[in-house]
Amino acid sequence: MPIHEKSLIRPENLVTHERLVLEGVDVSGDWSTFIEPRVVTDYNENLQDEIAALPGGEFLHRCWQCGSCTNACTVNAINPDFNPRYWIYLVRLGMEEELLRDKDIIWQCVSCHKCTYACPRDVNPEGVMKATAHWLELKGLTERKPSMLFDEVFSEQVFATGKIEDGRVLRQFFAKTGQSLFQDWLVALVRSFVRRLPLGLMMRLGFAGVFRPRTKGWARSSAAIRDHVAERRAEERRALGLPAGGPEA
Ligand code: SF4
Ligand code: SF4
Repeated sequence: MPIHEKSLIRPENLVTHERLVLEGVDVSGDWSTFIEPRVVTDYNENLQDEIAALPGGEFLHRCWQCGSCTNACTVNAINPDFNPRYWIYLVRLGMEEELLRDKDIIWQCVSCHKCTYACPRDVNPEGVMKATAHWLELKGLTERKPSMLFDEVFSEQVFATGKIEDGRVLRQFFAKTGQSLFQDWLVALVRSFVRRLPLGLMMRLGFAGVFRPRTKGWARSSAAIRDHVAERRAEERRALGLPAGGPEA
């Protein structure tokens, strides 16, 4: 298979000889650099299918590597190592080992969807980032990342009440991730709310924070949503060849 990107050459596969003479010609150092070939077992043939089986990953096979997603990406502008196009490339080729080198930054996608709008092939790169992060966690290759914990807290509140109460979501997320509730940015945000929001709205927000109101007649909807989510999670685990159960089941 041809090598398309320099970054795909594994450092351990580069072989040089400090001192090497071939047929009387001194090819020491960089002149004697060899790249050890990859073999079939270096690839995970199931990687694309497994990530495509998770929500958001369905259309990754459409990618034609134009790079518009990376070019538009909010996180890439801050950290050039965050590269959706490159990761989609690795997934499509089954290059799991290379993907794992970036396993601790893939979750940092902020779901701004700039890539989604830039993509000419409707790949939904944001979804692929989420599916890839999800795959890493389901396979036990990374610990649970903050974005996943936030999704859980958010979803659980919707399942339980049919409503979103931002203050409660934040409190629970901070508790799960061991963060202090009194962060400078949050204190500044609350102060600005207190100054600007009408008193009636503030009181309603406070009431919702304390009494956790539910959507009327929500119990049946909640049960149906939970059943659906449990079915989807069981399907995902089957698609990845994982036993039933697990932390999300
Ligand atoms: S949704 Fe994620 S991958 Fe897409 S542009 Fe935003 S940060 Fe980048
Ligand atoms: S913008 Fe779409 S087609 Fe282009 S590299 Fe990104 S995912 Fe692939």
